[in-house]
Amino acid sequence: MTQKILATRYIKVDPLHPDPGVIQAAGDILARGGLVAFPTETVYGLGANALDGRAVMRIFEVKGRPSDNPMIVHVADLDQVKDLVECLSSPAQELMRAFWPGPLTLVLPVGGVVPPEVTAGLPSVAIRMPGHAVALALIRAAGSPVAAPSANLSGRPSPTMAAHVMQDLNGRIDMILDGGAAGVGVESTVLDLTGSVPTILRPGGVTPEALTGILGKVMVEPAALSSLQTAKPRSPGMKYTHYAPRAPLLLLEGEPRVIAAKIREIAAAYRSKGKQVGILAYADGEDYTGAGQVVLAGQRSKPETVAAGLYAALRRFNDLEVDFILAEGLPESGVGLAVMNRLRKAAGGRIWHVVDRDVGNHLDKMHDE
Ligand code: AMP
Ligand code: MG
Repeated sequence: MTQKILATRYIKVDPLHPDPGVIQAAGDILARGGLVAFPTETVYGLGANALDGRAVMRIFEVKGRPSDNPMIVHVADLDQVKDLVECLSSPAQELMRAFWPGPLTLVLPVGGVVPPEVTAGLPSVAIRMPGHAVALALIRAAGSPVAAPSANLSGRPSPTMAAHVMQDLNGRIDMILDGGAAGVGVESTVLDLTGSVPTILRPGGVTPEALTGILGKVMVEPAALSSLQTAKPRSPGMKYTHYAPRAPLLLLEGEPRVIAAKIREIAAAYRSKGKQVGILAYADGEDYTGAGQVVLAGQRSKPETVAAGLYAALRRFNDLEVDFILAEGLPESGVGLAVMNRLRKAAGGRIWHVVDRDVGNHLDKMHDE
């Protein structure tokens, strides 16, 4: 589809106390059916009026997003939720009280006012209240709930800074509000409350441990735990490759020492063929100086710092123009589960459990690509 070129307005805002005039101008754009990228505490969102099916369609167009991938509806107060859902269970209300505003998206039975473009025709709708002053003010100024996926081209790493949004969407959307870096760095946890047991469809900023504290039993959708692509995932977005830098990424999982030795071995093999190797590593982990173009994504002992730096690190490899990337896996505790979910998606199936001597086979496969 041909894209209309727009003059994208780029405006800096104070993340805690945004200028009301700027926010109102952005809200007016949304009310008129336009698109505004804005900061949230997870990643930057690309917003449209959630009750305007045509505006929502434009999000799919500018992102190149598959039309069967539904969007999260963002609200600024609990009153807005009532019209969006068919009913609200008491666990749902309890979760809203405990985690909103914050990085928890609830999948609930959809109400009549939500256009099918938002839900991709599903009988459920995903809703969250973002924990960011700019996002909340914008939703209020728009006068309606705001449908917003991440403000990146589909398949690319999500934007955690306005500069990332510029890279992907300048000339395609009406406005970008720059409120500085997103704090959490990975998307919200998507929790499905429509079945008999609450199920995490996508791990994110709120950990399974935190949810168990309120709900008792919580399941994690098997597809969210591995790179396996199921034919009919419960969260349609999970079947697509996501978060991927341009170069192929090989994710190495296993004992850190063994991973480190393998990364050096593989990197040396590629270097000897004149290839540029990128290495995704951690500030408190192995020192790969000299082995390749090293990009650090936080500290492995503090997964929240890795979450905050992950997408910027993946985009950095594009700037470095590496031929391929070797990435160290992390333990899956806390937000580490969300980080590993995103890394596995970015790897698009190139995952190596370093337990044996078979890495050589994988090397051959990568050379063929
Ligand atoms: P994004 O906003 O692009 O970061 O992704 C939103 C995620 O929520 C995607 O993985 C969607 O597939 C998922 N999602 C949105 N609405 C629903 C829904 N009604 N049921 C299940 N998953 C949903
Ligand atoms: Mg996204």
